[in-house]
Amino acid sequence: MKKILGGVLFTGVTLSLSAAGQADDAAYLSWPSYSGEDLELSVNEAGTHFRLWSPEAQAVEVLIYDTGRNTPAVDTLDMKKAGQGTWTASVDRQLYGKYYTFRVKHNGRWLAETPGVWAKAVGVNGSRAAIIDFAKTNPEGWDSDRGPVVKNITDAVIYEMHHRDFSVDPSSGIANKGKFLALTEHGTRSPQGQKTGIDHLKELGVTHVHILPSYDYNSVDEANLPANQYNWGYDPYNYNAPEGSYSTNPSDPIARVREMKEMVKSLHDAGIGVVMDVVYNHTANNDDSNFSLTAPGYYYRHRPDGSYSDASGCGNETASERRQMRDFIVNSVKYWAKEYHIDGFRFDLMAIHDIETMDSVAAALKEINPSIFVYGEGWTAGDSPLPVERRALKENVAKMKGIAVFSDDIRDAVKGHYSNAADRGFATGKPGNEETVKIGIVASTAHPQVDYAKGNNSKFAYASAPTQIINYVSCHDDLTLTDKLAKSMPGSTEADRQRAARLAQTIVFTSQGTPFMFAGEEVFRDKKGVHNSYKSPDSVNAIDWDLKDSNREQFDYYRELIKLRKAHPAFRMTTADDIARHVKFDKTDRDNLISYSIKDNANGDEWREIKLVFNGSEQPQEIKIAKGDWIVIARDGRINADGMGVFKGGKIEVEPTSALILARK
Ligand code: CA
Repeated sequence: MKKILGGVLFTGVTLSLSAAGQADDAAYLSWPSYSGEDLELSVNEAGTHFRLWSPEAQAVEVLIYDTGRNTPAVDTLDMKKAGQGTWTASVDRQLYGKYYTFRVKHNGRWLAETPGVWAKAVGVNGSRAAIIDFAKTNPEGWDSDRGPVVKNITDAVIYEMHHRDFSVDPSSGIANKGKFLALTEHGTRSPQGQKTGIDHLKELGVTHVHILPSYDYNSVDEANLPANQYNWGYDPYNYNAPEGSYSTNPSDPIARVREMKEMVKSLHDAGIGVVMDVVYNHTANNDDSNFSLTAPGYYYRHRPDGSYSDASGCGNETASERRQMRDFIVNSVKYWAKEYHIDGFRFDLMAIHDIETMDSVAAALKEINPSIFVYGEGWTAGDSPLPVERRALKENVAKMKGIAVFSDDIRDAVKGHYSNAADRGFATGKPGNEETVKIGIVASTAHPQVDYAKGNNSKFAYASAPTQIINYVSCHDDLTLTDKLAKSMPGSTEADRQRAARLAQTIVFTSQGTPFMFAGEEVFRDKKGVHNSYKSPDSVNAIDWDLKDSNREQFDYYRELIKLRKAHPAFRMTTADDIARHVKFDKTDRDNLISYSIKDNANGDEWREIKLVFNGSEQPQEIKIAKGDWIVIARDGRINADGMGVFKGGKIEVEPTSALILARK
């Protein structure tokens, strides 16, 4: 998301709850909760049933409509108190095709109408919930649809993508531009005949597509799609319904549901999993959010003076430590996993949530499907009243079960600091990052040859297993790698910068942990130097698929790198002990040079030893390799997972800004 601070440190200043804050919290903690799955709407043989959770309401109504907007209510139902803080009303007919909102009386006044917090289908722009028959939203073969089986998250290769970026440019050759359905089109090609769309993903070899927010968000006017508005979508409105602007008809509540399922099915049929970016940590609005309009105050943390606390940097932060909010998050991801067959969840600003909530999320999802994985940003964008020890922080990841966090350590060490455009990193010739890159290589686990005191970001081995770490040097946030290299390597040629990108990603994709990349980087896409493009036009955000032809060698390098990783379990160890035992660093004592081996058929690998040497300097570096029959896998900016010749050992020159990878059986 658009980050205000990012990487807030574990040791950072934190507010303690004042007496007033505690009183506020204690009051909310005493509210009754309701965790049944029939919240807000259920339809069965007996009719249509509404149940709203609003413990402090003085009265609640349901308003029934014929259309998704602009028409008067055709009926109003008074709701009755029904226990556990809920209010209910029923109609003895199935109201399929109708729409509804709730209205809550609070402190003597009627609040504005809301579709509630559990609307699973909505009309255009999401202001009214829709009553649809979900059985009619399933594509052909949905019952037997399954995502890829994932034994360990470290087996995944994650590709982070915005629907519009991926398909909206004319060069994509895709008909459903910017839509869920873009990922259902086969045989699409760029003007030069290169594969695009889902064919491109298969060719690249990624295992999972991570889609940027695809729940119904606030900013894009779904009633005016020709305006071509763009937004990343970190402004949640209806958490449990898909975004309308990605459907072919936002006014048809069934279309967005069915088309998103068709996208999931199409990716699954191609062997690719779908990870959803979820943003439960804040809402687009404060007093006007669906949370505030159903149960004012409850879902958010506040400062002692009663104002909204703002760890999200977006005006508010939710309160996952409260029962009904925690249940909401857990039940919401469960719903997406069950109804939409989602294979993974990426939690935005996850450290705003408490550890107990994240543990519950992971456990509930594993019960539905053991292949589902969960990762998130282990930081906040501002301070929070939630005590540091309870936050789902990067530094607390070892205390969590089944959760992974992004490694800002490897990110900043390899390419330079994320917010200082001119800053260089290990791969671009800046010394002093070597130890932090090693921290990345061992996935932030304890290793006898890694000195965490010399780490740039974290000062201790915060991960207890590599399955807790997501490695990356590019994502939707901040400069693209292409732009970062352009800004930090003045006077360089494009060829120089592509070499640097190859080295950077070689480090990421061979490191322990799970690799993650930003869509289009494999064709060296840029965003015209815009670092926070959350509402920039397509001219900034769209991937130009002409680049796949002009940068075909770059694409081939990435494809081979992914192939190498997928073919060799040595890069995908699952325990810290294995890493400590099999990863051996060589003494180099030279700036911007790291040399190490993965030894002894690590994790059952067919290769007895893999030697990796990263030269981030602008000079060639001579090193010595033990005598043997080494297969050359990567050298001088080229890579072939099946090998390109044999090296017998002895002295070898590692060219500037490149990786050398050798392997022997
Ligand atoms: Ca929307």
